[in-house]
Parts: sequence; C-alpha cells; structure tokens
Amino acid sequence: MGLLNKKQIRTRFAPSPTGNLHIGSARTALFNYLFARKNRGEFILRIEDTDKERSKIEYEEDIIDGLKWLGLNWDSFYRQSERKDIYRKYLEKLLDEKKAYYCFCRKEELEAKRQEQISRGAAPKYNGKCASLSEDEAEERIKKGDEYVIRFKIPAKKIKFNDLIRGAVEFDSSLIGDMVIAKDLDNPLYNFTVTIDDFEMKITHILRGEDLLPNTPKQIILQEALGFTQPIYAHLPLILGPDKSKLSKRHGAESLSEYRRQGYLEETLVNFLSFLGWNPGTEKEIFSLSSLIKEFSIDKVQKSGAVFNIKRLDYLNGFYIRQKPLDKLTELCMPYLIEADLITPVFETQERLPNLTGIFGKEIVSGYNMKETGEKIDFNCLKRIISIYQERIKRLSEVPELVDFFFKENLVYEKKLLFWKNTEIGELIIILEKLKEIVSQIEEKDWNSKKLEDILISESDKISLELKNVKDRGYLIWPFRAAITGKESSAPPFVVSEILGRKKTIKRIENAINLIKR
Ligand code: GLU
Repeated sequence: MGLLNKKQIRTRFAPSPTGNLHIGSARTALFNYLFARKNRGEFILRIEDTDKERSKIEYEEDIIDGLKWLGLNWDSFYRQSERKDIYRKYLEKLLDEKKAYYCFCRKEELEAKRQEQISRGAAPKYNGKCASLSEDEAEERIKKGDEYVIRFKIPAKKIKFNDLIRGAVEFDSSLIGDMVIAKDLDNPLYNFTVTIDDFEMKITHILRGEDLLPNTPKQIILQEALGFTQPIYAHLPLILGPDKSKLSKRHGAESLSEYRRQGYLEETLVNFLSFLGWNPGTEKEIFSLSSLIKEFSIDKVQKSGAVFNIKRLDYLNGFYIRQKPLDKLTELCMPYLIEADLITPVFETQERLPNLTGIFGKEIVSGYNMKETGEKIDFNCLKRIISIYQERIKRLSEVPELVDFFFKENLVYEKKLLFWKNTEIGELIIILEKLKEIVSQIEEKDWNSKKLEDILISESDKISLELKNVKDRGYLIWPFRAAITGKESSAPPFVVSEILGRKKTIKRIENAINLIKR
C-alpha cells in the first residue's frame, strides 16, 4: 500500500477541567503526543467540560499551561461546551430510531431498586422500566414538567476489541443497564460526547488510562448504534505509588503544576513521564522530547502498573539542572528567591508608549534588588551564587534555603555554631580577631577565592603552632565559614567570601566577635 493510502493518524488528549492537570493525565497527553508525532499524525486537545458544576476555567488554564510547558503542542483545539448542536443532532437521531428513550424514574426509586438488587446479590443496573413508555406518554410527561433523562438502550451482546497494550478484551453488555447519555437534549454526558467527538474528529487511536477501560464497551456500543467506525484503543497502565497501590494524594503531589512549583524542570518531567509504562528496551535513560518522538513505540508499553519513583525524578532533575546553561538556570531560580523574600525585581516601565495592540505600558524586569537592604545585585553576581550550587541541587525550590545568607544584612545564628571541636571561648575570640586581621590585609583588587584560600590555609597552620588546643585547620576555617554564612553547611567558604566581597566578609567576622563577647 502506498503512503498516500495510509490513513492519517489522529490522537487526542481529552481532559475534564475539574482539577489541575494530574500527573497521570500528563503522561496520557505525552503518550498521545508522541504517538501522533512519531507517525506524522495530528494531536488534538479537547476540553471535556460537560460537567458544568465541576468544570472551572482556572483548571482549563492550568491544563493548557502544563501542556505548553512540557512542549506538547496540539494541532486542533476543541471545547465540548461549544459543540452542543452537534451532540443534539445525534441525540435526536437515537431518539428517532428508538435506540434511546426518555426516562422519568426518580432518584429515590432508582436507589431503592439498586439496594434491592445488591441485597439479592445481583449486579445493580437499570431495569429498563421507561423503555416501554410510548412516545405520546413521554411527550405528555415532558409537557407536564416531569423531570427526565435520556437513556440509551444497551443491546445484549458480547463486545470484543483488540487493545494495543492489553490484547483481546471482552465485555458482556448484559451487565450494563441502559445508560444515561444526556440530562436533556442540550446537556449530553461523558460517554456520549466522547463517542461523538472521537468520530467527528476522526480520531484513529485512543490512548488513555486503564481506569477508563470500563467506559470503552459503552462507547463501542454507542458507535455501533450510530454506525461509526471503531477507533483503535490502547489503555495505558495505572501509575502506582512506591507501595504499589494506585498513585494518590498520600504519595505526594498530584498535579503537574505542583511539581513545577517544587522546581522540577520540564525536561525532567517529559523524560520521567515517558518511562511511566514505557521503556526503550535499552540501557539509555536520558531522553529529550525530540528523541522520544523518534524512539517511542506502543509495542514497548507495558501492561502492568508503572511505579512512580520519586528518587528517579530527583536524579533526573539533578541531571538536567547540571546540564542547564548557567544564565538560564539563574533565571529559573529568580522566582524562588523572590517568593522567599530575598530579592525583589526591578521593573523598567515604559510608560505611555502606545503600540498597535493598544497596550500603553510594558513591564520588563531590568534587574534585582536585595529585599532587606534595597541594594542592587547584578545578574552576574546572582549567576555566581547559583553556580556554586548547580552541582548539588535536585530541585529549584531548595535554592533559597541554601543561598539566603548572601541576601541578608544580619545573620541570625547561635553562638555555639562558631565553635570548632573543643575550642575555648578565649581562643575563639583570638581566632576571630586574627581572621579579621588576615582578611583585612587583602586589598579589594586582590579579593578572590584563590587568594583567600592561600592566605587562610597558611595562617591556620601558623595559628595551630601558637595555640595549645588548636590542632587542625578547622579551628580557623570553621569559624570563618560559620561567621560568613551563619550555617552548619554551605558551599566552600573561600568562594562564598569572594562573592560576598571584602566589606561584607569583614563585617560578618566583626558581628561574630560581638556575638561571642556578648
Ligand atoms: N475526559 C475524560 C477524563 O478526563 C477522559 C476521556 C477519554 O480519554 O476518553 O477522565
């Protein structure tokens, strides 16, 4: 068969905007995107907002933001709430053909029936009571204002389909009662709208979570009733927590945006999500979106649940953070420093500049100030601060806690932090004063980590000869580091001191002396 005859592949991601983009849904979106792109097909985004009470525009925005962030761009966009006329046409067709009917059974009545069936040990399903109402009767009751829904008559049969991941799947439709497909002609429900849309949008392959498997036979029966062709199904394995139970809130963050806030990079999530149920069958574990497009294949998607391993997520994130160009990484860290009240952005406002879109002011971040002092901090300095942590951070959200001392005027820490091993207070005072004297000798123009290191190391060797308790370099280097960072651990003190600068280094040693003497 020539290429031209091949049917164009079309996949869709069809989220309901009833919550932020779930991490499992992001995986579904990714697999649909990869499958479409790999086969030069189309990828469609369809917002399934038929549930008016639960659908929210902010959730839709979160979903769209998340997909864009991951780089999963779509070829067409639809919103089900804008397609009512299409659904109505098909609902009328089913009613005309007597394949659907109005049902007036009350909630309490249905519930009582359900309970009775359960108590008999039977699977609960609708008993088909209203299927026998005549058209006139139904019309009469609608006119009277009786409440109703529209039900689809499920014919008893075996439903079989071949799932690309699970193989042959079979359902017995007699287990499904006649299902509600719409509240009324203008309010169709999920299984119905999905069936119509998948057909109308010429979807060839449906990749979706295994949790949606029970809906598939219902949709297939509807397709058959409407004379639609059947798309090919692939139900993706469940995502499990480390304890092998279905991934849920109790395992941690659930939404993609939450992972993003925690400082995971988009490259990390794409790479990580792709391995939730798929693997290349080789040792290779680093995949960009474009390499995934080349290598992804449904044949390599597993049937069994995919375990969500947070350690792997951190490992990948560390990898991608180390790969990031420093400029870019620094930019990515800025929102975290702002959020932690360490810096504030400075906006350059070009006021009253009318442009073609009618926007009069345009705000551009032109720099950053330290929040506490208002002092300007230039981007190169910010880059150097970030650079000393680039190797070790796993998430961007860890950054503020590591670097906060660079931005503070007065460090708050306990006296005892300054003591190394068995240093006595008198000795510590001598050591700190000595430190101040040593670093003060370095001139502004020579102030760099190499110089600081050379001097401090050689002086610490001398000091240990002078003071009886002092036996190693830690006696000098530890209080130096503690005084300039106020922390138990930090990046190497010489680099820290170089970035802090001469004035602040000396000031911090003085503050340490005052603290000890107090
Ligand atoms: N809108 C459905 C959901 O978010 C998914 C529909 C589908 O993939 O068939 O659960």
